[in-house]
Amino acid sequence: MKEEKQQHPETKAVRIQTKRTGEKEHATPLFLTSSFTYDSADEMAAAFADDSLDVNIYSRFSNPTVDEFVNKMAALEGTEDGIATGTGMAAIFASFMTFLQNGDHIISSSAVFGSTHTLLTKYLPKWGISHSYFNMAKPESIEELVKPNTKILFLETPSNPGLDIIDLEFVAAICKKNNILFVVDNCFATPAVQQPVLFGADLVIHSATKFIDGQGRVLGGVVVGNKELINQLYLFVRNTGPSMSPFNAWVLSKSLETLYIRMEKHAASALTIAKALQEHEKINWVKYPYLETHPQYAIAKKQMSNGGGIVTFELKGGIESGKKFLDSLQMISMTNNLGDSRTIASHPASTTHSKLSDEEKKEVGITDGLIRISVGLEHPEDILDDILQALKITEDT
Ligand SMILES: *Cc1c(COP(=O)(O)O)cnc(C)c1O
Repeated sequence: MKEEKQQHPETKAVRIQTKRTGEKEHATPLFLTSSFTYDSADEMAAAFADDSLDVNIYSRFSNPTVDEFVNKMAALEGTEDGIATGTGMAAIFASFMTFLQNGDHIISSSAVFGSTHTLLTKYLPKWGISHSYFNMAKPESIEELVKPNTKILFLETPSNPGLDIIDLEFVAAICKKNNILFVVDNCFATPAVQQPVLFGADLVIHSATKFIDGQGRVLGGVVVGNKELINQLYLFVRNTGPSMSPFNAWVLSKSLETLYIRMEKHAASALTIAKALQEHEKINWVKYPYLETHPQYAIAKKQMSNGGGIVTFELKGGIESGKKFLDSLQMISMTNNLGDSRTIASHPASTTHSKLSDEEKKEVGITDGLIRISVGLEHPEDILDDILQALKITEDT
């Protein structure tokens, strides 16, 4: 058998395991315990003496079930280590708090997840941390934003919901030259599709709530990177408490066993649907990373192994058409989540992004007729049929 190190990622996602209980159970055991015991006072004293000691003390610090999930994520992203958190936002917040201090500056793509935007604009300034946004379509403008106090460059690629893509290698070079920590939210791609560290990212963050779980059951977050960076994050999480629940880690570790096969199916169906909608008379345009018409198609081909599971398109009508389209769907779910086995449709202009000004909407790539489809694992013909019948009704209004 191959050394564990040389195994394919698909194999690691299934086979990496931490502790077993002695009952010879085949599946991952769930260690639902808040603390761990010692055989002697000396052993207990030793556990507390060394911050980095690899022994379980208390589940806010570490837990074998959580370790299994984290070890898998680090292996799949090609990094040394990782740390899990209760949600994706906790992972982002912990990363900012660990590596930024009063007086620092962060550069971020303007097209970021809504709560990340709120964190940057409403909360970080309270602690004296400033930010500058750049437009994903203009990577050449990034370097002008670098200041002597810039510590982190943060972005999502593909972005939510605009599906903009940026050349990770290009951005990594700017970060390296200016000694800036390069942090990538890899939520839309997952490690099955894109490994940002291969292109120079220092830290990779996930909302495990999305494709990592992939079945809409639990919330979770994770950050992976080299040992030195993760140890700093570990101490922050250990002391401030946004730790992942062992139960959620158990669910997520099992989810990873099917990640690769799921992402292949999500992507194959998404491409089929994107192609089928391209010429539709009620649609202005369709956007999908692996469509040749995507403005950054060449970059998508370079850094992503497939186009992922999200497709967007713009209805010819505006806000009312978007709502009518959602109301006309029969099978596809109306919810704000994504990365589920069930196909989901959302209309950002009337929901998640309804409070943005026209200027802000334009900046993050949202138009009134924009529909986002998180393509699920149903048969692609059934997904397409539902979209087509809803489009037929939408045209009547
Ligand atoms: C959902 C999401 C988050 C936040 O994750 P939670 O688990 O909901 O806290 C962050 N980034 C992206 C791109 C997301 O889609």
